Amino acid sequence: MTHTRRTRCRACEGERLSLVLDLGLQPLANAFLRDPAEAATELRFPLEVHRCLDCSLVQLVDVVDPEILFRDYIYVTGTSDTMARHNRAYAEAVVGELGLGRGDLVVEVASNDGSLLRCFQERGVRTLGVEPARNIAQMARERGIETVSEFFGLEVGEALRNQYGPAMAVVANNVLAHVDDTRSFLAGCAALLGDGGRVVVEFPYLGDFLARLEYDTVYHEHLCYFSILPLLALYRKVGLAITRIDRVPVHGGSLRIWAALGGSRPQHAEPVLALAEEERARGYDAPELYQRFAQGVARQRQRLQALLEDLRRKGARLAGYGAPAKGNTLLNYCAIGPETLPFIVDRSPLKVGRWTPGSHIPVRPVAELEGAGVDHLLILAWNFADEIMEQQRHFAAGGGRFVLPLPEPRIIES
Ligand code: ZN
Repeated sequence: MTHTRRTRCRACEGERLSLVLDLGLQPLANAFLRDPAEAATELRFPLEVHRCLDCSLVQLVDVVDPEILFRDYIYVTGTSDTMARHNRAYAEAVVGELGLGRGDLVVEVASNDGSLLRCFQERGVRTLGVEPARNIAQMARERGIETVSEFFGLEVGEALRNQYGPAMAVVANNVLAHVDDTRSFLAGCAALLGDGGRVVVEFPYLGDFLARLEYDTVYHEHLCYFSILPLLALYRKVGLAITRIDRVPVHGGSLRIWAALGGSRPQHAEPVLALAEEERARGYDAPELYQRFAQGVARQRQRLQALLEDLRRKGARLAGYGAPAKGNTLLNYCAIGPETLPFIVDRSPLKVGRWTPGSHIPVRPVAELEGAGVDHLLILAWNFADEIMEQQRHFAAGGGRFVLPLPEPRIIES
């Protein structure tokens, strides 16, 4: 079985799931082709965003087997300077906030190559990583970070507590939204937690997603798009009380949720309830906001298609810059293929020499831009647009123009 379709909400188990946005049949956003011949057997799955009419959780209903998605994951966290700084500050915040000392255990779920846990280790606490991708778990072990390779949930949480004792911090960054069984995941975090400890979970915020029309962050790995509202009941159900929520400016706007064991009747902190009220006031629990979002997305597609078509008619020579997973959602949804974008350049050696899933555009090294006669560069990694335009300033100096697909399709006039 490679794919299943849910009929119940992940958070409240209600059956009233309502379609918000249909992005069509899409291949897996990270399944770059090694050979164009693979196009004939490429897997495609529906990519539909739904909202639960009972608890308002925004989620995908089509679930691709995680063994296909995550067992050999190629995203490694330890690579960028920005993330390294973020990790040090994060470890310091958690150690400081909880007054952790020698002997206290910190468990990270989806610990990747152990970059974050190493920052905890440097501060003298005990660490344990949980990472399902076997190749990446092995990298972490080689760097001295004890790591078990499992898909996390209630059973694994209980087993780890039996083996390693209670944790004073269970941290999970950018993984909750990737998990199909949200409740079992949080219950597992609670099962691992010791008295006085905290579960600290970070994920991209629905508010930013809606406001900036970030539909390209929708792909099969991202199963949930969280606001605070659906989490209140869900946390209570697994015995966790939310003590604090921080806004974090990574990945286009994220929330960091701190929670403690709450006994048989967990009570969330007052400021948390106030934030949930604000979401209600902004209409997060009503259909209109989501209808406007879907209309906005359709309008962006039309504008981008018209802009690219206009450039093509004028004889412009286009190429893409950056081949992130999100770029593939955008290319496939907007039906942009090699006839519009003959090639894309990217800095990742894991992507160069391959073809983009669905749109089948070749990915080449950045150096190939030189002498290719390209006069317009479509920036697919548009959240790094400033950095890319700075790196490619000689392209603009030579008369080239950058094209941004989102949040508003436009040509940057320099
Ligand atoms: Zn629900």
